[in-house]
Amino acid sequence: MYVVREAQVHVLRHGTILALVLFCSYHGTMSRFRMYPTREQDQQMLSHCAHARFAWNLAVEQHSHWRRGGKSAPGFAEQCRQLTEARQENDWLGSGNADVQQQALKDFARARNARFTSGFGEPTWRKKFRDEGFRVIGTDRVPEFEPDGSPKLNAKTGKQILGRSVVVRKLNRHWAQVKVPGCGWVRFRLTRAELPAAKTFRVTFRNGQWHIAFAVVPDPITASGTGEVIGIDRGVTITAALSDGRKLNCPQLTVKERAQIRKHQRRAARAPVGGAVKAAEYANVARLKAREANRRKDWCEKTSTMLARSYGLVRFEKLNIKNMTRSAKGTAERPGRNVRQKAGLNRGILAQGWGLLRRRTEDKAPGRVEDVPAPYTSLRCSACGWIEKRSRKSQADFACVSCGFTCNADENASINVAAGQGGVPRPRRTAGAGGATAAASRSSTREPQPVWVGIPLF
Ligand SMILES: [Zn+2]
Repeated sequence: MYVVREAQVHVLRHGTILALVLFCSYHGTMSRFRMYPTREQDQQMLSHCAHARFAWNLAVEQHSHWRRGGKSAPGFAEQCRQLTEARQENDWLGSGNADVQQQALKDFARARNARFTSGFGEPTWRKKFRDEGFRVIGTDRVPEFEPDGSPKLNAKTGKQILGRSVVVRKLNRHWAQVKVPGCGWVRFRLTRAELPAAKTFRVTFRNGQWHIAFAVVPDPITASGTGEVIGIDRGVTITAALSDGRKLNCPQLTVKERAQIRKHQRRAARAPVGGAVKAAEYANVARLKAREANRRKDWCEKTSTMLARSYGLVRFEKLNIKNMTRSAKGTAERPGRNVRQKAGLNRGILAQGWGLLRRRTEDKAPGRVEDVPAPYTSLRCSACGWIEKRSRKSQADFACVSCGFTCNADENASINVAAGQGGVPRPRRTAGAGGATAAASRSSTREPQPVWVGIPLF
């Protein structure tokens, strides 16, 4: 049974990175642990996943029928009522846990309400093997208090409000367990000193691993107090060059691991279509690719915490990653050039986790992250401010043609970013896309103007 499920995760190989990002930022930041259910618990939790997915997809379908000017799609309360009815009529749905199904509807309502602000847009379909997970609301009741310490009272009855709390228990220094409906106590690896106190948690299943994420938003990390400004230049060769001269690199798969991926892909390609061998080989590929994504995510978390902790203000150069990684394929009539090379570059860019690093830093240090417009940060001399294409001798070297300042190219760019500079594009209008516009009379006699360089990729 287990083998079959493992084999089917190969569907993941395209969606892994996106899915990771999606789930982790769903309800702000969380504390997340690896779960180790028994075989029976594993089966039970998989059925919870199926029920949650079914309820979510029903909600998606209901809302997809809505048309402008029509009667509004049912809200959370109405959907819950419909769910109760559907549970009575459908045995499979009725056999599942009502709380799990209801929480899926609640998740949907929350996702939909946040569709303009979350960055994820309208909630979409959840797919088997790809979006496996469910939310559990705590069964323990605990009295609630106002921020000032006084009991939180119900406005009508005057009684103290009882809130929900998840039931967790510490076993020893490294292990704890949590109550999951229908499963009893499920163990998870405790990688923090404190047990999390949360009202709900979400369980996810991906790449053959279970994880539990408690819905707690940790306090922002306080700055060092020195108010130091750091600039970060993100690149493919060096993932993040800091303006203090440090060069940080996102760990990637080793040469050996990459060879393993190719080996399994080769074997999968030669295996008979629809056979168990093919599925198992694809599962091996998915496992290795998931390892790469995990490494990247881990690095982003650690680096963003370090940045938030040690600097007062963090400046990133502003990148439009979506545009930068746009395919070069073109259309059938006008095919693009260097498609394979661009695809490789895109893979390289996406493998660096640029977007994730920026976002997690912002999460941990709200209000202390700035974007500096990117053009010219890599071509501007950080010593004299001169912008020229010829100063960039190679990928790694920068030597100013004006003042002779030499530096590592990425470090030079990061210093510009730290200074908030680079966004001073003053190209001569003659060389712009508009064609033969007359040069401004003032600039031609003063001093040599920066040459127009187009938009630098690095
Ligand atoms: Zn210079």
